Amino acid sequence: MKKITIAIDGFSSTGKSTVAKQIAKHLGYVYIDSGAMYRAVTYFAMSKGFINEKGFDVEGLISKLDNITVSFKFNKNLGFAEVYLNGINIEKEIRTLEVSNFVSKVSAIPQVRQQLVKQQQKMGEEKEIVMDGRDIGTVVFPNAELKLFMTASAKTRALRRYDELKAKGDHVSYEDVLKNVEERDYLDSTRKDSPLYKANEAIEIDNSNMSLDEQFSTILKLVNSVLNQD
Ligand code: C5P
Repeated sequence: MKKITIAIDGFSSTGKSTVAKQIAKHLGYVYIDSGAMYRAVTYFAMSKGFINEKGFDVEGLISKLDNITVSFKFNKNLGFAEVYLNGINIEKEIRTLEVSNFVSKVSAIPQVRQQLVKQQQKMGEEKEIVMDGRDIGTVVFPNAELKLFMTASAKTRALRRYDELKAKGDHVSYEDVLKNVEERDYLDSTRKDSPLYKANEAIEIDNSNMSLDEQFSTILKLVNSVLNQD
């Protein structure tokens, strides 16, 4: 069977990771959540005091980038790979609104991107990978055989993220989540280094009105058509 690379980009909370996990499982491919890597660096910056009430010490974080190792370990019970920072599982810690509120500032730093993109490209050397993020089809894997660009209205996306956070017991308001989603859309698509945009050859999927099953079958058809091409 042909080996391919699947790049899924799009705005925050468009359901990229849900479908990426489903497709990876179906194909027996590796799934990598590149956003988790930027979140891990953000969590590092917060826990080391580079981000605090006074502001953000960007130079301080840059000087410590070599001390950061982000890795993934597959959790059989959950069915996906969890993220580790210097050997410690931080999967829960990186999903908070506090981390979400800073991650787009951290991910705009070119030195952070350089380091993480290098690791991501190494992970994809053998293909058979599904990676989701903001620059996967444009920068990380420009030669990916299948590129998808996921969209949905900001309100739909904020509601999804709000429901997820509430289900985990986080006390957040819908308005704060919507504000975060809109702010990250803006920062991610206007930053100088590797902004979020749809690659020419990427296929756009608006899932505002799609069920998870519909989304999976739509994308699986696209995957199969690439796998069956000569
Ligand atoms: O995918 P997720 O919403 O968890 O990503 C968190 C943040 O990480 C994004 O808002 C963006 O700032 C950054 N990111 C990025 N490039 C990627 C993946 C995520 O800049 N490939």
